[in-house]
Amino acid sequence: MRKCMLSLLVILLLLAAYPVFGQELQVVATFTILEDFVKAVGGERVEVHALVGRGIDPHTWEPTPKDARLVAQADLVVANGAGFDQWLLDLLHNAAGSDTPIAFASERLSVSALSHSHHDEQNGHGGDPHFWLSVPNAISYVQQITEALVRLSPADSVYFMERSHAYMEKLAELDRWMQDQLGKIPKENRVIVTYHNAFSYLAERYDFEVAEFLVQNPEAEPSPRELARLVNLLKGREKRALFVEPQLSSGTRYMQTLAREIQGELYTLYSDSLTDLVPTYLDLMKYNTETLVEALK
Ligand SMILES: [Zn+2]
Repeated sequence: MRKCMLSLLVILLLLAAYPVFGQELQVVATFTILEDFVKAVGGERVEVHALVGRGIDPHTWEPTPKDARLVAQADLVVANGAGFDQWLLDLLHNAAGSDTPIAFASERLSVSALSHSHHDEQNGHGGDPHFWLSVPNAISYVQQITEALVRLSPADSVYFMERSHAYMEKLAELDRWMQDQLGKIPKENRVIVTYHNAFSYLAERYDFEVAEFLVQNPEAEPSPRELARLVNLLKGREKRALFVEPQLSSGTRYMQTLAREIQGELYTLYSDSLTDLVPTYLDLMKYNTETLVEALK
């Protein structure tokens, strides 16, 4: 009898030590790039879901009741922060009783002075929140996510840490390759003209001029003055390349007009969302690098 009680006690202790044994942690990410980072670290021990799906603009997302449910049921929510996915905070604020922990992937990074540019004087925006488009910043995101997962399930820490290190090595390799590839573009061609302010960290890291853009935030409409400014800037250049982002259809319209006016060429860059064509962050960065080299070399 006593032996029986003892084994029962051992079983109970084991169960207490491994509360998530046999079931994945439920993680919700605000958009697909964060979802990809969570998958890379969490592997099969995490089930992750992005609120804003592939190919959709996360800036203008309006959360649905289904999102509210997913967030309330999650073990962890991963957001970008820096004003990028502000709608999540409103959602959490409104979801009474939701005590789901949130990890802000950009927590250790500060908004670059370069990213402000002339636009802020007009509309008071807080600068570029697209930190992940520079690979060292993506590594910082992965560190934040790894720490959040380890805090959530210390029993899985070895598994998470191993996966995290292997992934960060891939990112470091990507960073070296990008420096090498983008280094082939002549210095005088290194400017990225795009619709919304997303590429300032990429510009900073890989030695481009501050990326020129039409609007600070894709919800804004460009002013005639801004259009005229970019026309003048591009007319003076040998390479008249403009970059559209497929998730921003209104922006594509303006960039097409601009391209017609200066006989420029349009190329695609990915910024805010993964798609079937670029299903992972590594794919997205490789695609953008190859496109920039093709357009500006
Ligand atoms: Zn964006």
